[in-house]
Amino acid sequence: MPVTLVDSIAALRNTLQPLRGSGNVGLLPTMGALHAGHASLIDRARLECQTVVVSIFVNPLQFDRADDLQRYPRALDADLTVCADRGVAVVFAPAVTEVYPTPPLCVIEVGRLADHLCGQFRPGHFRGVATVVMKLFQMVQPDRAYFGEKDAQQLAIVRRLVKDFDVPVTIVGVPTVREPDGLALSSRNKQLAPEERKLATALYRALCEADRQISSGVTDPELVKKAATAVVPSHKLLRLEYFEVVDPEEMQPVETIADPVVVAGAVWVGATRLIDNVHSAPPAGT
Ligand code: AMP
Repeated sequence: MPVTLVDSIAALRNTLQPLRGSGNVGLLPTMGALHAGHASLIDRARLECQTVVVSIFVNPLQFDRADDLQRYPRALDADLTVCADRGVAVVFAPAVTEVYPTPPLCVIEVGRLADHLCGQFRPGHFRGVATVVMKLFQMVQPDRAYFGEKDAQQLAIVRRLVKDFDVPVTIVGVPTVREPDGLALSSRNKQLAPEERKLATALYRALCEADRQISSGVTDPELVKKAATAVVPSHKLLRLEYFEVVDPEEMQPVETIADPVVVAGAVWVGATRLIDNVHSAPPAGT
C-alpha cells in the first residue's frame, strides 16, 4: 500500500478511521530528516502494528533558540521515500498553523523530570515536547507509540506523561542506532563539518568509559564523571555541556551507584549540540 501524506488533523482522522478496526495503530513522532535511527523505530513499529503513522513536525514550542529552529534540517521528499520503502501507512506532516492555530494557553509542565540534563540547559524544552506529544496522542490516538532511547530524558518524560494522564497507549523504547565509530545517529549530524564529525565521537567514548568504571564497581558518580570526561580531548571546537549519572525513571542525579543508572551527556561540537547516553549497571553483588 502506498504511503498517504496528510497535513491536516481532519484528513489524518479520516484516513485512520477505516484502518483502526484491522489492528494496532503505531505512532512514531519525529522532526523529520529521517535516518537509520528513525528507520529502526519504523521497523519495530511495523512488526507490532498493522498501521504505522509517522509524524513529521519541527515543533517550535520545544526550541529554546530561534537560530536552532531555523537551522534544523528539513527533507520531506526524502523522508517520504524512507517511509514508503518501509511500509509506513500514513505520514502526518502538518504546518505550524495546523498544530498551533493560536499560541497554546494550556501546556504540560513536567516537574522534576525536567530539572537536570537537557532540561537544565534548554528552558521550556520538555514543556514543548510533552505538550506536542500529548497533542499528537489526541490527534492519532495510537495503540502504541515508539521513542528512541537516544533521547533518554524524553522517553522517561513520555512514560510518565501517559501514566499521569491515563493515556491509553503503550510506550515502546527502541535502542540507539550508531555509526560504526559509535556516534549516535542524529538529524543534527548533517550539520557537522568533516573536522567536527571526527571530534563528535568524544561523547560516546566518554560514556563508554563511564560504563567501564561503573561495571567494574566504582560507585561514586563523581569519580566516574572525572574518569569519563578526561577522555574528551581539549579542543576549541568541543565543549561538554553536561555529563551526569541519573536514575532511569526520574532522571535525578544519584549519590551512589547501587542500581542500574543512565549516564547522559551533551556536547557542543562547533555550533551543533549533540546528546547521547548509555545504560549502565554495577556488577552483581555490590
Ligand atoms: P527526532 O526526529 O530527532 O525528534 O527523533 C524522533 C524519534 O527518533 C525520537 O524518539 C528519537 O529518540 C528517535 N531517534 C533519534 N535518533 C535515534 C537513534 N540514533 N537511534 C534510535 N532512535 C533514534
